[in-house]
Amino acid sequence: MKQQSASNWLIWVLMMFIPMSTMGKGWKAKHVVMIGIDGWASHDFDKAPDVPNIRWMIENGSSTFSKRAVLPSASAINWASLFMGGCTEMTGYTKWNSKTPEIPSFGTNSRGIFPTIYSVIREQCPKAVTGLTFDWDGIGFVTDTAAINFVKYERGEQDEPEVAARPGIEYLKQAKPAFMTIYVGGLDAAGHGKGWYSNEYYSMLSRIDKVIGDIVQATKDSGIYEDCIFIVTSDHGGIGTGHGGITLEELETPFVVYGKNIRKGYRMKEGMMQFDTAATIAEMFGLKRPTCWRGVPMKEIFK
Ligand SMILES: [Zn+2]
Repeated sequence: MKQQSASNWLIWVLMMFIPMSTMGKGWKAKHVVMIGIDGWASHDFDKAPDVPNIRWMIENGSSTFSKRAVLPSASAINWASLFMGGCTEMTGYTKWNSKTPEIPSFGTNSRGIFPTIYSVIREQCPKAVTGLTFDWDGIGFVTDTAAINFVKYERGEQDEPEVAARPGIEYLKQAKPAFMTIYVGGLDAAGHGKGWYSNEYYSMLSRIDKVIGDIVQATKDSGIYEDCIFIVTSDHGGIGTGHGGITLEELETPFVVYGKNIRKGYRMKEGMMQFDTAATIAEMFGLKRPTCWRGVPMKEIFK
């Protein structure tokens, strides 16, 4: 008996040191999982032949296909805006591969970085566990990684979404984070290589769709699915073999959201900007938005 109570005590002490997400006040769900698909355009999404998981989320969640990128319509600029809740002129990230802002940021947090959704979560919910995985190193420069519990850059030989997502899927199962982003860069690479809306582009989107299925399955396996919100979105689209310009093919990207407390089969009516993404995630966690943010939450998606 004595031995058993000693081991119970040990388990109790160990649990004190395992990061666990407890649900905060005003949270819409205990877990938010965002899948970031670089270069996924709204244009001609209807023609994607084999994306059952994304289509299922659209049918059973809320979505818009007119979320607009900030200019220039390139990667670091738009991931910065998406995570930071501000436009290019505010965040100061102006180049496709910006590592630091070329314009001094309009506002900064305690680390001197424009506040990201990760730093806002860390400040207002210090115990919330967060994660980020990616296969393009540029993502690490626009997310304020010091505010994130688990950060992993993982890349296969080529652009392989299955490899990129693996550590994120593992972390989802093990740590059950409150907020997790899994970024994949393969679709952008397919667009630059063979063209946006080419067969290669759509077949890469199908591979990513399967990965999305694996991510959803991981939440089911770990028993958190019923308490999850999933977001699938992107930074910019493309035209020909590039992006960065002012066409709607380059500027419009999908925002698909599904899960707990999210309206079912709903097509969003209000206009959405890139920087509204951060504000919408903040709303899911009941967080106050920093005064330097200009993004607004898309409240119409909530039940
Ligand atoms: Zn991009």
